Amino acid sequence: MSDKADFTKNVLPYLAQLEEDEAGPDAAEISRRYGISQERIVMLSRNENPYGASPRVRAALTDVSLHRYPDSRPFLKALSGYTSYPEECLVAGAGMDEIITTICRIFLGAGDKVLIPVPTYNFYGLAVELCGAVPHYQPRLAGFSVDRKIPEGIKMAFLCSPNNPTGNALSEENVRAVVESTESIVFLDEAYAEFAGKSLLKLVREYDNLVVGRTLSKAFGLAGLRLGYAVAPPWIARQYRRVAPLFGISSLSLAAGVAALQDLGWMRECVGKIVAERERMRQSLASAHPSEGNFLYVHTEEKSEVVVERLLCQGIVVRDCSSFPGSGEHCLRVTVGRSEDNDRFMEEFKNANTKLSS
Ligand code: PMP
Repeated sequence: MSDKADFTKNVLPYLAQLEEDEAGPDAAEISRRYGISQERIVMLSRNENPYGASPRVRAALTDVSLHRYPDSRPFLKALSGYTSYPEECLVAGAGMDEIITTICRIFLGAGDKVLIPVPTYNFYGLAVELCGAVPHYQPRLAGFSVDRKIPEGIKMAFLCSPNNPTGNALSEENVRAVVESTESIVFLDEAYAEFAGKSLLKLVREYDNLVVGRTLSKAFGLAGLRLGYAVAPPWIARQYRRVAPLFGISSLSLAAGVAALQDLGWMRECVGKIVAERERMRQSLASAHPSEGNFLYVHTEEKSEVVVERLLCQGIVVRDCSSFPGSGEHCLRVTVGRSEDNDRFMEEFKNANTKLSS
């Protein structure tokens, strides 16, 4: 073999343009860069639950036998209790991100068109491109609602309610209109449904082209264990089981999921505290949009990248939304954290958001 062989030519051509996804700086890096002690750093950028998982989760992990392949059935049974859907309608994945990539793999091939109302969760576009399919980004309407009709020629559409990063939930009427307007597959992402206190899960019983994705990363505080699920019509759930790896979720994650679903009181207590804090923050942040998630979408005077960098210098990490297609250059997303962390954000935001006269 020649030393000069170009092995990179083997990479699929439609993947060549993809950007590498970055997790952003961690607390150690921020501490080093800005000279702030790690205890002073406040992470409000990833929509995590600041109270963590139920204590029962940790207890359940000690009992897991690590030398056996995982069995997802007890988790699916627990999910059946939580969602009121039979197990034939339920599938699990390593986080909702894996659910999304698997659903795309079932329905999308090269050149297929996928409707994505923006701004929204960036991962949909990536998952679509990984299949060689083409995202069609469509601007949202007033109040961040979505167009009632899916145009001809679309193979799949992504809805998100409450939507990341804008925080609004879609009305039942809006979602029904979209689903009924099309022969394509509609994926409704309800990662933040618990914070909204409402869900459109019931619609899966009515529509054979609707899949609802959920996760235990948010309200249940299990982001580190990567556990998501979808509620789907039986025919789609069957396709899913044919495509997804049989042992794709670790035994630890599955055991954690069962324990978390057995302690709904903990989850509801976290959600109650987060929702109360969210409303308190919104009262004092004049440029925040109403939100039904565990985060706020906040308009900035200065460019958001400037404001976000100023906050970072103070050890407060929030999400600059200029990397969300369709969001513009003047919005940031802040996760609702613990009360003392939110206070620090609100105090520092006042300073960081002041436009400096040149
Ligand atoms: N959907 C939305 C709207 C999200 O914001 C996220 C994560 N931030 C996910 C899905 C992915 O969740 P998971 O951790 O389950 O992969």
